Amino acid sequence: MRYIVDHDLHSHSYISPCSRDDRQTKQAIYAYALASGYKLMALTDHGWDTKVDDKGAVGWVGNNMDRLRENLPLPQSKYCRFLMGCEIDMNRHGVFGLSPEERDRFEFIIASTSHLNLRHFTIDPETVGDDAASRKAYYQKRLHTLLDMEDLPFHKMGLAHFYTGNICNAEPIKCLSLFTENDLRDIFEKVKARGMGVELNFVPRAATAEDLEIVLRPHRVAKDVGCKFYLGGDAHHPERFAERRAEFETIVDLLDLRESDKWEFVPRMIAQETVGQ
Ligand SMILES: [Zn+2]
Ligand SMILES: [Zn+2]
Repeated sequence: MRYIVDHDLHSHSYISPCSRDDRQTKQAIYAYALASGYKLMALTDHGWDTKVDDKGAVGWVGNNMDRLRENLPLPQSKYCRFLMGCEIDMNRHGVFGLSPEERDRFEFIIASTSHLNLRHFTIDPETVGDDAASRKAYYQKRLHTLLDMEDLPFHKMGLAHFYTGNICNAEPIKCLSLFTENDLRDIFEKVKARGMGVELNFVPRAATAEDLEIVLRPHRVAKDVGCKFYLGGDAHHPERFAERRAEFETIVDLLDLRESDKWEFVPRMIAQETVGQ
């Protein structure tokens, strides 16, 4: 059976520093989920838990976990479950920004290793260059640092946007293209072993067919090694909602995804009843 587009596990309310959009309320996000026919939605604002050892999140320290919880309680119905999640970075010292006690308090956690645009927070510009080769090596190292952590609740964690222009704002496609087949296999075999979901987040358009193929390639390798996928729209503003569902369908077609490729977390958490039943 073809992969069913029935969820979106990545969204930002006005609380996220990169949204700051008063229209991006929990009610608006939930209305988008219902209008899209989703059975599962997740709110995943950016945050940095001030209880972890290193408070390296420049500008984000104000977004501690209590601030994220201001959105509780989330709207719910029997048609669509709305999960309280968060999107957490790893800082330049390899510290994941969520303390063990907080890890239990979120239903879903997105781990982001690819926000390399956050200079001095996720990257030390004194030691890592802006060129594609430097960024590729650094991003690869960060992925392994995260995946080698022993105490994270990987069963309820997603790996955020493997490809985003933020990995290397100067030459993102070139940076991505530098990952060899074996580099990708080594990463995604660990993701599979950890039981993490792989996020499908990219926009299925590119300047050229060749560029699109470069963006698709890591996801094809992930699929080949047996990783499981979830959809993450990553909307920061309401305008994105209108486009995202059709883009998800295109991604499913491009990767020829089946229901068996879906991350098990989704059916486990999903609302059991659908509209009309
Ligand atoms: Zn992100
Ligand atoms: Zn995000």
